[in-house]
Amino acid sequence: MIEILKDRKQQVREGGKAAGFDMVCDTASLAGSVSQRACVFCGSRVVLYPIADALHLVHGPVGCAAYTWDIRGALSSGPQLHRMSFSTDLREKDVIFGGEKKLYRVLTELIDTYHPKAAFVYSTCIVGVIGDDVEAVCRTVSREKGIDVIPVHSEGFRGTKKNGYQAACQALSRLVGTADTAGISKLSLNILGDFNIAGEIWQIKEYYRRMGIQVVSTITGDGRVDEIRRAHGASLNVVQCSGSMMALARMMQEKYGIPYLRVSYFGIEDMSKALYEVAEKLGDEAMLSRTRELVSQEVASIMPELREYRRKLEGARALVYTGGAFKVFSMVRSLRTLGIKTVVAGSQTGDKDDYRQLADLCDEDTVLLDDTNPLELAKYVQEKGVDLIIGGVKERPIAYKLGVGFCDHNHERKICLAGYSGMLNFAREVYTSVCSPVWSLMPRRRLHTGGEQT
Ligand code: SF4
Repeated sequence: MIEILKDRKQQVREGGKAAGFDMVCDTASLAGSVSQRACVFCGSRVVLYPIADALHLVHGPVGCAAYTWDIRGALSSGPQLHRMSFSTDLREKDVIFGGEKKLYRVLTELIDTYHPKAAFVYSTCIVGVIGDDVEAVCRTVSREKGIDVIPVHSEGFRGTKKNGYQAACQALSRLVGTADTAGISKLSLNILGDFNIAGEIWQIKEYYRRMGIQVVSTITGDGRVDEIRRAHGASLNVVQCSGSMMALARMMQEKYGIPYLRVSYFGIEDMSKALYEVAEKLGDEAMLSRTRELVSQEVASIMPELREYRRKLEGARALVYTGGAFKVFSMVRSLRTLGIKTVVAGSQTGDKDDYRQLADLCDEDTVLLDDTNPLELAKYVQEKGVDLIIGGVKERPIAYKLGVGFCDHNHERKICLAGYSGMLNFAREVYTSVCSPVWSLMPRRRLHTGGEQT
C-alpha cells in the first residue's frame, strides 16, 4: 500500500466527479519526490530542436545536453544539423571565472564550420547561477556573423517545463515576421506544435495537400528558418501541441491577426475533426467536399484491421501520462476506439481547465494526476489493475518492472502514430504489448495473454 504524500494530495483526483473538483496544478514540483516532469531547458529544447537548419547550442554542463543526443525521433526532409548535440561543456573553471568567453569561442567556431541559417543558445541552470550575459554574447556573434543568434532563457530551475515552452515561443517570435510573404495563397496555414516524430508531419501535410491547402511553415517539426520567417503570411495557425505552442499562436493573432485552431492529429475522431475544422475555418465549399471524401477513404481503409484489434483488446485498462494535457484527450478517445478503458490519466503541464475537460471526458472513477512521480504511478498501476501504460522514456521502466504493457507516445518513439495509418500503428503497438505472451509469466492478473489470474 503506497500513500500519497500529504503535499501532493491536491494534485491527485480520486473518487470521481462526485468528490468535487479543484485540482492544484501549474506549481513547482514537490522537493523530496522525484517528478516525472522535465525541466525548463528541456521544455524549450523539445520545441525548438526540430528546426533542422538551425544550430542548437546548449550553454551549460555536458550532462544537460546528453538527453538531446539523437534519441528523439524528429525527422528532417533535408538538413540534419538539429541532430547534433552541441554543448559548451562548462567546467569548474568556467563556473568560477564565467562562461561568456567560452560561449563566444564555441559559437563562432560552430557557425564557421556548419554555416547554419540561425542559432539558438539555451541557458541551463548553471548559467543562471553564474550570471553569464548570454544576450550580449549572442548580439555580438549575430553582428559579426550576419545571422540571427537567439538566446533561449531556459535555466532549468526557473519554473516548470511549461516555462520552457514559453521561452521557446519567445525565441521563435524573434524570427516570425522577418521575411517577405509574396506568393502565399489565401488557402494557407502553418502547422504548429507537431514535431515530425517518425515523419508524422509529412503525412499531415499530404492530407492538407489533398484538401488544396498551402502549408507555409511547420513549427517546429521539419522546420526551416526561412519558412518560419514567412509564417505571418498564412491565413491560419493550426496548433497541435497546445501546451507548447499556444503562446506563439496567441502572439501571432495579436500581432498579425492570424486566427488559430487547437487540434489533435491522434485517433480517428480527433484527426477527422481537425481536418473538418480547418476546411470550415478557411471557408471553401469545394475544400469541404474534398475533406469529406478524404476522411471516408482513410477511415474505410483502416477499419477492418482496427476492429480485429478491438476484439482482442476489449476490456483492457490503461494509464496515460504525457507531457501536454491535450494529447491525453486524444489518447482516451483512441483507447476507447480499441475498447480500452483509461483508469488513470495525467500530464506534466496541464492547467485547471485541461483537468476539468479531462474529468468530463474520462469515466467517473478515473484517477487524474498532475506532475506525478514513480511511486504514485506504481501505486495506481497495481490498485487499478492496469494492463497498459502510455507514456515516454521515464514511464517505460515503471511499466516493465511492474509487468504491464507499454506504448511510447513521446518524442523518443520511432513509429508514426498520427493520422489514420498512425491510428492503425497505435493499435498494433498496443496489441503486441498488451497481448504479449511474456506477461503470462508474471505473477499477477493477466486478462489478455491467457495466463492464469492471481
Ligand atoms: S535541471 Fe538544470 S542542470 Fe538539470 S538538465 Fe535541466 S538545466 Fe540542466
